[in-house]
Amino acid sequence: MVYRVYNFNPGPATLPLTVLQEAQKELLDYRGLGMSVMEMSHRSREFEEIVNSAEALMLELLGLSTEYQVLFLQGGASLQFAMIPLNFLPPGATADYILTGSFATKALQEAEKLGKTHVAASAKNSNFRSIPSQDEIKFSESPAYVHITSNNTIYGTQWKYIPDCGEVPLVADMSSDILSRELEMTRFSLVYAGAQKNLGPAGVTVVIIKKSLLEGASKNIPAILSYKAHAEARSLYNTPSSFSVYILRLVLNWVKEKGGLKAIGELNKKKAALIYDVIDASEGFYRGHALREDRSDMNVTFRLPDDNREKAFAEEAAKEGLIGLKGHRSVGGIRASLYNAMPLEGVEALAQFMKEFLNRKG
Ligand SMILES: *Cc1c(COP(=O)(O)O)cnc(C)c1O
Repeated sequence: MVYRVYNFNPGPATLPLTVLQEAQKELLDYRGLGMSVMEMSHRSREFEEIVNSAEALMLELLGLSTEYQVLFLQGGASLQFAMIPLNFLPPGATADYILTGSFATKALQEAEKLGKTHVAASAKNSNFRSIPSQDEIKFSESPAYVHITSNNTIYGTQWKYIPDCGEVPLVADMSSDILSRELEMTRFSLVYAGAQKNLGPAGVTVVIIKKSLLEGASKNIPAILSYKAHAEARSLYNTPSSFSVYILRLVLNWVKEKGGLKAIGELNKKKAALIYDVIDASEGFYRGHALREDRSDMNVTFRLPDDNREKAFAEEAAKEGLIGLKGHRSVGGIRASLYNAMPLEGVEALAQFMKEFLNRKG
């Protein structure tokens, strides 16, 4: 048996073991070509097949038609913070942002450099413990688009509803919860995600864009930053992060084999509930950061009574093969990232460890 830990890191994050094994099997000789995907031309028929099947699988899993196109870009979700206003925020127009955490704030800051923005709602005053309700959202008069962050990786909150913004294009950063649950995806005009949380390795960023949105995109921008240029070239405008796209395709196959988003979503709920139940039953020893109704199924954030016990928690867990549990410095405490690829057994082991730790140190 190969040595594997339960890896709760927020990203780059754990990948399905069978995906790694399949990649290992095909590493030296991809399907009789005598080379790996890393070494193959991105213009080859074989690589084109990888891109096309990854796109088709992504749309199928998300329940989207070919009204949408999937792009495999680079630069991380962070480049999308800039590309979105560059392409879709023309002079004179205003873009609306809903601030639910650090990445949402970074997205806004990039847009501010490029055009007019409006904060339609913010959870900053509660230290990003909550997600604004529809009533709390105050849109500007006629926004070019509305931007949300569907899951807040650092604070551990997640949108449980899709905000209604009428005909205005809704844009979502889904870096840390894409493909984690069933969602009415047709409500979005553009969705993006760095792959390294829930989709695959770092290096590729997935953009799912409604083709009709492309028609209004800015024209006088560098091609490398233009969705239109990437869409017309079907993600081969320049050399893509080819090996990452290949692994991503394997992950998409794996999601499909697991039963798609309905089955994955149910399993993710069950996994998160295992940890939240221990928190809720701990009589305040473990204190969740997020409000109960806004808690994320992907990133569970909580504090312990003091720094010493938080430090001991992460250290002792690591000794038992439960690694990557230290929280982000802006929240402190513990963060357990329970992405799709984290098996139920890993979450059960963490829940068991939490109970034992409480018994010893509570
Ligand atoms: C990690 C993360 C990012 C940043 O992604 P990069 O790929 O490192 O640029 C942005 N948004 C969210 C929600 C994230 O979790």
